[in-house]
Amino acid sequence: MKANFEVRDTPYPIGPLKRRHTHQVDVRWQEHVVSVGASHPVVVQSMTNTDTADPIATAIQVKELAQAGSEMVRITVNSPEAAKEVPRIREQLDRMGVYVPLVGDFHFNGHKLLTDYPDCAQALSKYRINPGNMGGGKRRDDNFAKMIEVAIKNDKPVRIGVNWGSLDQDLMAKMMDENNQRVTPWEAQAVMREALVVSAITNAMRAEELGLSANKIILSCKVSHVQDLISVYRNLASRCYYALHLGLTEAGMGSKGIVASTAALGVLMQEGIGDTIRISLTPEPGGNRANEVIVAQEMLQSMGLRAFTPMVVACPGCGRTSSTFFQELADKIQHYLRDSMPEWKDRYPGVETMNVAVMGCVVNGPGESKHADIGISLPGTGEVPSAPVFIDGERQMTLKGETIAEEFQKIVEQYVDRRYGQKL
Ligand code: SF4
Repeated sequence: MKANFEVRDTPYPIGPLKRRHTHQVDVRWQEHVVSVGASHPVVVQSMTNTDTADPIATAIQVKELAQAGSEMVRITVNSPEAAKEVPRIREQLDRMGVYVPLVGDFHFNGHKLLTDYPDCAQALSKYRINPGNMGGGKRRDDNFAKMIEVAIKNDKPVRIGVNWGSLDQDLMAKMMDENNQRVTPWEAQAVMREALVVSAITNAMRAEELGLSANKIILSCKVSHVQDLISVYRNLASRCYYALHLGLTEAGMGSKGIVASTAALGVLMQEGIGDTIRISLTPEPGGNRANEVIVAQEMLQSMGLRAFTPMVVACPGCGRTSSTFFQELADKIQHYLRDSMPEWKDRYPGVETMNVAVMGCVVNGPGESKHADIGISLPGTGEVPSAPVFIDGERQMTLKGETIAEEFQKIVEQYVDRRYGQKL
């Protein structure tokens, strides 16, 4: 096969593609509203791993997640003790000025907790319902109806979240029987994927029949394999207009969890599928729960879908890199930018779109630095020990000596103030 050198009439298209059309779901706490779906930016959410019955620990972790940028935080509500504490967690957060909407994660006894603890139902901004964990037959239908009733009464949206680990067994058995009647039966895995989609959509339609409007319903179908997730969500997206929550469940620890999640979500996001996401990482012992928020933000920002914090472009380093100084500077600047964002966000509108380049030598350093808003090219092995700094594409100064890191940080700070500071 030959390469095609024909001149194109139009430039080759670049993603991301247009977002899929969906209903808009407003998730609110008092006057603070997070809009999900339609043309709204993809919302980042996360989940606590504290015991909800411990209101102080839970409120502290919700605050940390919100400060890291989580726009909704899910907490498990699994027992009367937990349900009782939800209003206290909400009060505590309000006292701290943290108005992030709280999502209650309900399973087997959700119908009971929501009816027995009306203050809990009121303090939550959204209910996550897993129809596969609500018993079987009529009991499941009644329990589901009860939860929808509470949602309607309190004017709350719900996420109907099906999960392959707790898929409705009656439905799965029925679909397997039907599959056996096919001339060419599908593989069991394909039936399972179809059952997830059918379960999510039929439960959403049932919620609508019970009186909940489509703009109060978000759907999710969680699986733990990348190709399954992509297939399930493509199928789901082609068959409904409900807003979709995306996440690879049980993604795992460290780089495995990050890679698997972003591989799956990246493909779907590129196709315009997904209105809210969670990266379900298992934290390392003693690790920071907020990492899942940072990964979600970095994924969306790398894809050009949202901007949260200025990005540092750094080369990987190689045999030309003279010392670890280059890595240390890239790391220091990245932390400095992220740590500054809570203060910069209001003071310097637009700063989150800034690009900073930290490069290891003269091969690509000056070129990459010129493309960034502000960049530094450090000296590689055998090069003159000086570091040219580029601002808005022009070489502006050269740094030398022991204080390059401090001086560069100062230059970044001045640049941010000059370019993004509001002129009064
Ligand atoms: S810019 Fe220089 S140090 Fe960095 S990877 Fe390229 S050649 Fe190596």
